[in-house]
Amino acid sequence: MSKRIALFTLLLVVSLVPVVAQQQALPAAAPLADNPLLREWTTPFGVPPFSEIKTEHFVPAIREAIAQQRKEVDAIANSPQPPTFANTVEALENAGDLLGKVNPVFSNMQSSNTNAELQAVNREVAPLLSALRDDIRLNPKLWERIKTVWDARAALKLPPVQAKLLEENYKSFVRGGANLKPDQKERFRAINAELSTLGIKFGDNLLKETNSFQLVIDKAEDLAGLPPSVVAAGADAAKEAGKPGQWVYTLAAPSIWPFVQYADNRELRKQILTAYTTRGDRNDQYDTKVIVAQTAALRAERAQLLGYKSYAAFVLEENMAKTPDKVYALLNQLWKPAREMALREAADQQTLIRSLGATFTLEPWDWRYYQEKVKKARYDLDEQALRPYFKIDSVQQGAFYVANKLYGLTITPRPDLPVYHPDVKAFEVKDKDGSHLGIFYSDYHPRAGKRVGAWSSTFRGTRVKDGKRVTPVVVNVCNFSKPTGDAPALLSLEEVETLFHEFGHGLNSLLSKVPYRGLGSFPRDFVEVPSQIMENWALEPEVLQVYAKHFKTGEVIPAALVDKIKKSAQFDQGFITVEYLAASILDMDWHTLPPGPAKDTTAFENASLAKIQLPRDIVSRYRSTYFNHIFGPGGGYASGYYAYIWSEVLDQDAFQAFREKGLFDQATARGFRTILEKGGTEEAMTLYKAFRGREPSVEPLLMKRGLK
Ligand SMILES: [Zn+2]
Repeated sequence: MSKRIALFTLLLVVSLVPVVAQQQALPAAAPLADNPLLREWTTPFGVPPFSEIKTEHFVPAIREAIAQQRKEVDAIANSPQPPTFANTVEALENAGDLLGKVNPVFSNMQSSNTNAELQAVNREVAPLLSALRDDIRLNPKLWERIKTVWDARAALKLPPVQAKLLEENYKSFVRGGANLKPDQKERFRAINAELSTLGIKFGDNLLKETNSFQLVIDKAEDLAGLPPSVVAAGADAAKEAGKPGQWVYTLAAPSIWPFVQYADNRELRKQILTAYTTRGDRNDQYDTKVIVAQTAALRAERAQLLGYKSYAAFVLEENMAKTPDKVYALLNQLWKPAREMALREAADQQTLIRSLGATFTLEPWDWRYYQEKVKKARYDLDEQALRPYFKIDSVQQGAFYVANKLYGLTITPRPDLPVYHPDVKAFEVKDKDGSHLGIFYSDYHPRAGKRVGAWSSTFRGTRVKDGKRVTPVVVNVCNFSKPTGDAPALLSLEEVETLFHEFGHGLNSLLSKVPYRGLGSFPRDFVEVPSQIMENWALEPEVLQVYAKHFKTGEVIPAALVDKIKKSAQFDQGFITVEYLAASILDMDWHTLPPGPAKDTTAFENASLAKIQLPRDIVSRYRSTYFNHIFGPGGGYASGYYAYIWSEVLDQDAFQAFREKGLFDQATARGFRTILEKGGTEEAMTLYKAFRGREPSVEPLLMKRGLK
């Protein structure tokens, strides 16, 4: 089943504009000179010296980095010189180098390799970072200087990239509360601090809820229906959990989804899926319903302070979509045909259930199980038969091959580089001319300290410093199937697509040529274009030939199997689209709320899903209580979850250009690379039109999903 469980682009961009923390004298016992985070990194390519970094280094290093940034910012704000682009906007852009070096290490570890101590560190430093951000945006002297430069912009005749940086800076101050009255500023700051704490609490609770559940099986007959690899994975997990001789299934993606897809035991399917869908909703100490409702209410209040009707209106102004109406229009356009398709899929399953002599009505824990059986009958395609061709290292090589054919990149292992966990692999990425482009880390398997989902992030983003390009250090973090028994890790089709997807984000970071950190990112609803477009190459027969080889025999995936994948591509799209759209609409509903008292989370969610008539046998891909994208730390996708399908309109239209001109057509590749290189230095639609020669069409998306 090609179900994207949790594609997650995490732009762990550290707030580059530093916030000043209350300076505190550091204990003499912790000399900063001994702190590896604060020293110059003499590792190859200046990657973080992971093996030297200990948990206790983070708090003093982050405090020191915050203090430094505060000092740099104060110097800009208090400068006796008249404000200019260089001494104000550019100087601010260049402030906070130390925090920009230290904080990504911390926030990446917090996401992918955390523990109780690191979570405590996070609770300590997050409010300091939130305060630093506010102290900068709400600094009246600094704001006065920015405004002076902004008001003089016409006369300055800045080159386009600098003009864009000035505009982004100006907007970020306005949006960061610079124009508020003093009493409003105080409330604004309090809301930010509270939101930061709520986000962290949500994330910590969700990790607890996800890790606390185990489905323990001690009778072999309860494994009926499971493919041998899923049984073996359950046995491995049991050993790890200290329950040798039994089988354990968890809420991690590679564990729960194959179980729900294949287990004949309907009661056990119900148990594990219910555990998944009630995370944060068990009225216990880790319940997140109040956090969710408070977060939405505070966001609405903050948006109103800034003069917006809703939080969504505030966020979307900066996206391609611009307004909530535009987002709802796309979601509603897709909803009706997707829902009708899902109802047909459900009817097919119900027919199958009856034909097998059962009388029960299809429930959420039946969907993946019977859908798999319908698929097998209709296309004779067994998902498990594909796995032997998708050895994880080969799939990664396939992604590298595409980058080579498109852009001439070569990517080679660098086992000599330090890593933060034994699962992590390091690579050097070189451009066509052999010059060093950046470092790429992959971290592909689940563990207790890793959030669920998959994302791409950076330890160091690119920019130009002292006339030279700073080379990026990029990481892809996923939760893919582990090796089982003697076999290497063998991926599902969906995991293959996710690997290519996250690598697409990685390529975006690696190829970027933006001169300023502040122009590093695309709008949220364009950011999935570089990643989603890569998924297309993964399943092209020409590319499969290269990487999809049987892990034992080396035999290339048979053409007949490739043909079945192609033919079944639209199968299940009703379900996939409906569960995704339901979550997107739920997100929009939460964030178009006017300010007011916190809602009852359950009632609000039920009303949202009833309004669209979500079929009773489908659960929204994320329910509010575990919707980490929008309520987790940072909440980067709040009123932005629609971005995946908005981006898909663009990436399908963009890939159409390769279909027309050739899968690896060099002129088309060059054009697409220009988009990746320019990043936030120009409007996304301007970049897109330069590539395609016109605005995107929604047709290729409708065709792909079978919605037309
Ligand atoms: Zn993504």
